[in-house]
This record gives sequence, C-alpha cells and structure tokens, in this order.
Amino acid sequence: MTQYYMPTKIIEAKNVVKQNKHIFTKYGNKALIVTGSNSSKKNGSLNDVTEVLTELEIGFEIYDKVVENPPVENIVDGAEKGHNAEFIIGVGGGSAIDAAKAIGILIQNPKGDPHATLFKLTDLKSIPIIAVPTTAGTGSETTPYSILTDHTRSTKSNFSSKVFPDIAFMDIRYFMSMPQNIRNNTCIDSLTHLIESYMCVSANTYSDGIVEKALKLWGTVKDILFENTISEENLTVFMKASTLAGMAISQTGTSLPHGLGYPLTYYKKIAHGKANGLVITAYLNICSNKKRVEHILDLLGFDNLNNFNKYLTKLIGRLNLNEDEILQYSQTMAFNKYKLRNHPDQISLNDLIMIYEKSL
Ligand code: NAP
Ligand code: FE
Repeated sequence: MTQYYMPTKIIEAKNVVKQNKHIFTKYGNKALIVTGSNSSKKNGSLNDVTEVLTELEIGFEIYDKVVENPPVENIVDGAEKGHNAEFIIGVGGGSAIDAAKAIGILIQNPKGDPHATLFKLTDLKSIPIIAVPTTAGTGSETTPYSILTDHTRSTKSNFSSKVFPDIAFMDIRYFMSMPQNIRNNTCIDSLTHLIESYMCVSANTYSDGIVEKALKLWGTVKDILFENTISEENLTVFMKASTLAGMAISQTGTSLPHGLGYPLTYYKKIAHGKANGLVITAYLNICSNKKRVEHILDLLGFDNLNNFNKYLTKLIGRLNLNEDEILQYSQTMAFNKYKLRNHPDQISLNDLIMIYEKSL
C-alpha cells in the first residue's frame, strides 16, 4: 500500500500573518501563543501575531518559556498557562512548534498523568495548532511529530500521538535574524531529514519525489553556509527545502542518524541538526543501497561520499567522544526500536558503535 497524507495548509509570503489574519477568527476567541524567550520578540514574528490577535479582539496568553529541546516540564507549564485556550500559535524554531503541539495535546486531554498522556497514549487529538516557523531546518510545521526531552528516561523522544499543524505561515523575514551557527545547524537538520527519508524503509514515490526536489534545492545553496551572511533569496531556498523535508519525514519518519544524534544532544548539548550531521556520512557509508546513496550525492552536487564528508567536516567539524560514551550512546540507540525499524538493513550494536567511531 502506498499513501501520502499531510493535511497542513502552507501559506508562504512576506507579511503572511497580517495578510491572512481572517484565518485566525476561524479558531475561536482564546489563543495561547507558545514561543521561546528571545528570538521571536526580535525578529517581528511575535509582534505580528499579537497585533493581529489584538486587532481581531481574540484574547491571548503568551507562554514564552520554551527552551531548546523542550522538556516535559515546559509542556506541563505551558498547558497550565493556556488551559482554557481554543487554539495555539507556535512561534519560533522546532522547539517552540513541537512544544505547541504537545501543549495542545495536554490542553485537549487534561486528565491523568501528563507523562503518560504524552508518551503512552496514542491517537489523542490536540486543539488546533497554527505554526509560525522562524528556523529553516526542522520542518516541524509540516510534520505530526513533537520531540521532547524526557528526563525520566534521560533521552529525547517523540510523543506518541500525531499532531499536524492546521496552518503553516511562512515568512522569510522571520528567518533572516538567525546567526550563522543556528542557521547552519538547522539547515543541516533538514539535510539529514531528506537523506534519512530517502534511505528509509517506507520511502515511496511520493516522499521520494519531495526529497529529490528538496535535495536539489539544498545543493544549489550549500556553499553559502560557509558565509556569515545570507541573502533573503538563498535563505528562502533553505526554508523551502526544510518545509519539503518536513513533508517527506511526515511520511517516512527519520532513522539511525536522528536516533544516534539524540544522546549527543542530551548528554553533550550538541545542537540537534549538528548532532545528526556529525554522524550522517558514517551512516551513509554503511547503507547497503549504494545506488540511492549515489543519487543523494548527485542531487546535492557531490562527486562522492569523501567530498561530502570533507564539506560537512569543514562546516561542523568532527565528533568528540570517548570509548565509554560511544558504548553508552550506542546502547541507548540499540533500544530505539522505532528508529531501527525505519532502516532497511539489519543493524547490530557494533554497527552503531562503528558509526560513532567513524565520525570521530
Ligand atoms: P530551536 O531549538 O527551536 O531554537 C534554537 C535557538 O535558535 C534558540 O535559542 C532560539 O531562540 C533561536 N532562534 C529561533 N529562531 C530564530 C531566529 N529567527 N533568529 C535568531 N534566533 C532564533 O532550534 P530548531 O533547530 O529550530 O529546533 C530544534 C528542535 O526541533 C529540537 O528539539 C529537535 O528535536 C526538534 N525537531 C523536531 C522535528 C519535528 O518533526 N517535529 C524535526 C526535527 C527536529 P529562542 O529560544 O529565543 O526562540
Ligand atoms: Fe531533525
């Protein structure tokens, strides 16, 4: 069976929030805005949303305490603040949008233990989510996932329901304030989404079509990442590639690089996109479907894996782990049945260890 389902309406334009303000009125009279502490106040995204809500006389609360790789505690706090909200607007990077989805689940399903609601119960509904992304990498605006930090299990983990935002409002102006390191880390996240989707066991004609287009786009602007500044035109290419990558992984999920990246973020505080990027070449090296690997490299504009490796090494450096850490993180990944099941080859603990070792 082959299927494709991605119900989010994407509206992309400059000034998109104000131009489409009528859309907010469909969702009710009480909104919760979920955002980080800083960036959305500076890049104009939060201001645009609050101005529109005020003009429309839609009441709102702002939960602006979302931290990177949001922990469950953030979600519980946010749900408390917005307990009577009818819809949520997530403004910011993947952390803010993921938090918005999880808060939406807790507001819609307030009874019971929040940890169990988020990680054990499946198929729960959320109140509607509107996404206003400001980073060009996670694609969270077009995925049903929410990746949360779960300190009880010392890891990052997807919640167990599926929540697609209703609307993704894309305005390149909000992305322009990203400093080079944040921009590069997040752009690499989208690159790994594309690669993992293409190598995934459930890749199909529809996800492949999206990936092939987006890899080509990503390849045309890849060298810009070495520069400190980026034009609006070039960042728009990364923005589109990221949203497309979200659409692709919304079908296939991600696999080993994301699973291997989670401990790097949890224990070593390495940014999510960079963590995946550090292991992606060694991952591609063990993939048995060499034809697909070659096609990825070709679409990106690399002659071979070695050149791809050189590019990424120059951009983000190498992994730095000791033997004990490698064993511990590989064992963590070996328990991640969701990520293992997405990879078409049989994978042993030694394979996982080797991916980390080859990334040093
Ligand atoms: P992020 O964690 O949302 O934000 C990283 C940093 O960038 C924060 O300090 C944030 O500041 C800042 N920032 C955001 N937008 C900015 C802008 N326009 N200008 C300047 N600074 C800005 O980063 P992210 O890479 O977008 O998201 C990573 C998270 O997404 C991880 O938790 C990852 O697991 C998750 N993820 C989710 C999916 C999915 O499908 N749902 C896929 C991949 C990754 P503030 O805190 O002040 O806002
Ligand atoms: Fe990711």
